[in-house]
Amino acid sequence: MSESDTADDSLQPNVRQTPAGKATGERTDTLLQTEDLVKQFGGFTATDSVDFGVDEGELRCLIGPNGAGKSTLLNLIVGTLQPTSGRIYYDGQDLTGLEPNERVQRGISMKFQVPSVYGELSVRENARLPIQQFADGEERRRRVDAAIADAGLSGYEEVQASALSHGQQQQLEIGMAASLEPDLLLLDEPVAGLSVDERDEIAARIRRLNREEGIAFVVIEHDTDFVAEIADKVTVLHQGEVFREGSIEAIEADPEVRRIYLGGEQ
Ligand code: ADP
Ligand code: MG
Repeated sequence: MSESDTADDSLQPNVRQTPAGKATGERTDTLLQTEDLVKQFGGFTATDSVDFGVDEGELRCLIGPNGAGKSTLLNLIVGTLQPTSGRIYYDGQDLTGLEPNERVQRGISMKFQVPSVYGELSVRENARLPIQQFADGEERRRRVDAAIADAGLSGYEEVQASALSHGQQQQLEIGMAASLEPDLLLLDEPVAGLSVDERDEIAARIRRLNREEGIAFVVIEHDTDFVAEIADKVTVLHQGEVFREGSIEAIEADPEVRRIYLGGEQ
């Protein structure tokens, strides 16, 4: 091999790059990129040609009126819904069509809007559920213990989940999603119905997981104080489309954003 063959390959004209590599590969900061993503339910378009990108280590909030398509978009990304058309690229790979557990193995995890803690099971039994197909033995035990400790539930291992407060149950669910050790964690309304103190605890935890473990987040939340506290950047969805993207200050000051929130879709 001659010297020139090992030179910077960006100078070589015939380097083959896949669309996934181009959108989210090693040469970009982009971790996730959807391309012209569409989801229809019957004749209704819930996700309308969405190009949505998230950078590595970013903390993004996703807002928009009820029915805007926020949950649908996250479910498409994690794979619990399949798109009608469009692609989903992640870390240099095309995830479109992969099963949710294959996406977990590549580094995406999600806490769903609908509670998924089993009330009749103990905290430890719940914490074990998502991990069991991905780790066993000592590794599984370590991750279960870490999830419980991170949720602030050490000492509650044998308590039935139904005996926990709503805030503790949300903390447990975030722990269960984080125990899969994702690079991208999707949280659908993690603080809905919680007190101000409980919200503060979850905000602090999201920031810590982001800063210390480098996890990128997409968090769906309506409360602008909470959003202002955690978000690097905010995406507004409206009628299935990306309506605005920017800082929380710019979004809050935008009269068109106010208009869609007051537009009777609530
Ligand atoms: P958001 O999370 O922003 O409140 P969703 O993503 O849950 O909104 O829903 C977007 C739209 O798609 C809503 O009008 C909802 O009724 C519709 N929708 C969501 N899931 C389904 C489904 N499984 N079947 C039919 N319509 C759906
Ligand atoms: Mg929703």
